[in-house]
Amino acid sequence: MTTDNALVLFSGGQDSTTCLAWTLARFSRVETVGFDYGQRHRAEMDARVRVLAAIHTRFPDWAGRLGEDHTLSLDVLKQIGGTALTNAMTIEMGADGLPTTFVPGRNVMFLTAAAALGYRRGIADLVGGMCETDFSGYPDCRDKTIEATAAALTLALARRVTIHTPLMWIDKAATWSLAEELGGVALVDLIREETVTCYEGDRSHRHDWGTGCGACPACVLRAKGYAKYRAR
Ligand code: ZN
Repeated sequence: MTTDNALVLFSGGQDSTTCLAWTLARFSRVETVGFDYGQRHRAEMDARVRVLAAIHTRFPDWAGRLGEDHTLSLDVLKQIGGTALTNAMTIEMGADGLPTTFVPGRNVMFLTAAAALGYRRGIADLVGGMCETDFSGYPDCRDKTIEATAAALTLALARRVTIHTPLMWIDKAATWSLAEELGGVALVDLIREETVTCYEGDRSHRHDWGTGCGACPACVLRAKGYAKYRAR
């Protein structure tokens, strides 16, 4: 096991694409993993392929560091259901005080699966886009949750597991700025054009911040963040 390789939890959205760039700037070999958990739309999984292809053609220095891309199926989340991301439900505030987009246990499962894959691949450094700053109140995005998960996985695997969360303490505007720092306007444009953040998976409506329905909470957050970034 070396400390020079990393595995990025890569969904094809703005945050995980920025995390991928952050990792490519720091580690010499970078693998990616995406999770198919029965999302209502395929837009995310399609975006992953487009973003990786665009990095290969537009960022030759990074392309040489990009290793294997993995996709793992976590059907159990769809089987449990009860969330607007896997079932035909309205996106609204639920009785538990969390949006209906909350998928209980998702990040812990993702990190557990990623750590197990990393174990097989000789990778101890995981990178994820969890963020406590601009979040929707998801308890599994909190720094404490991630820290405790890393400690549990390190014990469970009897091998170091480090979880890097470069976006944890920055807002959406700062995430756009970070992308610009890492890959210039070319990376900002790639993120605008190719990533999908929209909860509806909408690719038919174009905005200056990218494509999306423009109305769901994820689009609203992305649009606000982009406007604040542009105003700087
Ligand atoms: Zn949307």
